[in-house]
Amino acid sequence: MPLPLVHSQPANARAWVREQATSGHRVALVPTMGALHEGHLELVRRARHLADCVVVTIFVNPTQFAPHEDFQRYPRTFEQDLRLLAAEQVDMVFAPASQEMYGERFSTYVTPPAVAQPLEGQFRPDHFRGVCTVVLKLFNILPAHVAVFGQKDYQQARVIADMALDLDVPIALEIVPTVRQPDGLALSSRNRYLSADERGRALGLAAALQHAAQQHAQGQRDAAQLEAGMQAILRDAGVDRIDYAAVVDPVTLQPFTQPISDAGPATEPVAVALIAAHVGRTRLIDNRLLLRP
Ligand code: AMP
Repeated sequence: MPLPLVHSQPANARAWVREQATSGHRVALVPTMGALHEGHLELVRRARHLADCVVVTIFVNPTQFAPHEDFQRYPRTFEQDLRLLAAEQVDMVFAPASQEMYGERFSTYVTPPAVAQPLEGQFRPDHFRGVCTVVLKLFNILPAHVAVFGQKDYQQARVIADMALDLDVPIALEIVPTVRQPDGLALSSRNRYLSADERGRALGLAAALQHAAQQHAQGQRDAAQLEAGMQAILRDAGVDRIDYAAVVDPVTLQPFTQPISDAGPATEPVAVALIAAHVGRTRLIDNRLLLRP
């Protein structure tokens, strides 16, 4: 199978996207950090459904990692990624070198929206500044019609949506549900770090979220109770450290000050349960929407 066209220079990638748009093609963008798995490929398939041309970006963005985090050891599997994307008939891959994205005098950053402050914002203080900056750069380099993101990174999707709204980004956003392994573990590039024992303990995240959804379906409307239940399951599963296990407003990600409501449109979630926890040296995140009964 022929490998997809790869551009590493922003100017060339932009010219290619512009040419597609000028020829009347709808272009969909799928930003990734590579080390691709079935979750990423599901985004690509949604993109293919939404547009005539699919562009995937592969860039491990240094500005979204703190100095003590896993930027250096983050898995890089470029050749295999290209083969997977060829099988999905991706039209172009944008894979810039770091210097192409961050020139020597680079000094401009996006201040993230309010929804970036809680949860991840408390544990990874500059993370969303790096995410917003690189995503806005990608939106500017690749002026697509639609960009596709995963619900796996729920807060990230909310942050990008608010940034796009606040800064008048003319690109529609599409969110794809989390792809999981049969036992519930959410696919993640970081799952490669897990030993067999750690992988077993990592199942605590999905189990805790499942428990919260079940408790909510059975009538529990007290977010603190749902959170306590998740904490107990995570501890029983043997995760090493819990950063947060929270049930919050699905739009603002702020804590509930009242019982979770049953009011509102049937299609909208009433709450979202989110977890970040460490298993061994690996930090994992997962989430689940709580729906109206
Ligand atoms: P990453 O390469 O981890 O930056 O992820 C790139 C995109 O893939 C993001 O929009 C993620 O939310 C999405 N993604 C990652 N894992 C999954 C998954 N298991 N299911 C669906 N989307 C995912």
